[in-house]
Amino acid sequence: MKLQFGFDLGGTKTELAVLNANGEFVFRQRVPTPRDSYPLILQTLAGLLNMACESLGTPRPHSIGVGMPGCVDAVSGLVRGSNTLVLNQQPFWSDLKHALGCEIRVQNDANCLALSEAIDGAGSDAGVVFAAILGTGCGGGMVVNRQLVTGRHAIAGEWGHNPLPWPSADEIQVPACWCGQTGCLETWISGTAFAQDHLRHTGQTLDAPAIVQAMRNGELQAAETFDRYVHRLGRALAQVINLLDPDCMVLGGGMSNVQEIYPRVGEVISQYSFGVKATTPVRQAVHGDSSGIRGAAWLCR
Ligand SMILES: [Zn+2]
Repeated sequence: MKLQFGFDLGGTKTELAVLNANGEFVFRQRVPTPRDSYPLILQTLAGLLNMACESLGTPRPHSIGVGMPGCVDAVSGLVRGSNTLVLNQQPFWSDLKHALGCEIRVQNDANCLALSEAIDGAGSDAGVVFAAILGTGCGGGMVVNRQLVTGRHAIAGEWGHNPLPWPSADEIQVPACWCGQTGCLETWISGTAFAQDHLRHTGQTLDAPAIVQAMRNGELQAAETFDRYVHRLGRALAQVINLLDPDCMVLGGGMSNVQEIYPRVGEVISQYSFGVKATTPVRQAVHGDSSGIRGAAWLCR
């Protein structure tokens, strides 16, 4: 049986999973990421692969997918933009290839989400799928006919670092983004940004789940923070429609669990999409926290 191997290399946990042809997990192991040592990260990945091959009684796969934050520069082959800082500026791709003895396909977590959901998740019935992670940060990925669109510079889908469209007067004072720009979508519609917006307007320091709970308890200020959030998200997704007009949009990350988003965001999208009442479904990711690892495994299908 054809097996698909995928690593999810996160800032705190490193996971290896093996999927069978039906997309079922046949092996799954998670260990802490040795985030302060580049050689130890390589050793950890090699150790997990040995464990999986022994446990399954299978030879080393021809290729393995790796999902991680940041990207491998298409020209230099060096990692950039990873929050596991020791990976940045390392030739991770070629070093890992030698450490594991097989071919490597590396993609960021948002691209892995998009691929996972397009293949057997919330977008499996759609030809063109746009997926967004709304979590600590904000990223996007695009899949066309079950193939990831990565782009000339491997930055396709970096929608989180486009500016918030159609800003209102009180959105002109834009927050700074870690990427060096100001007013990026990440600073408005990530879970982190949701909490910061609440703090700016109310002086209350609450995390995103606590604000959602306050809204459900009927607190007016929390409801207003959520109204602003849905409106910004709707505008951001309308911009995706005006550029790509996908068949389906899928949301992942912590904010995607807030069910109140789904019945409301479509109306805002329609208000800003060009000349149409948008019928594009906006769906919650089906595979939840497993999207990263599943997408990584599907990279080599
Ligand atoms: Zn940015």
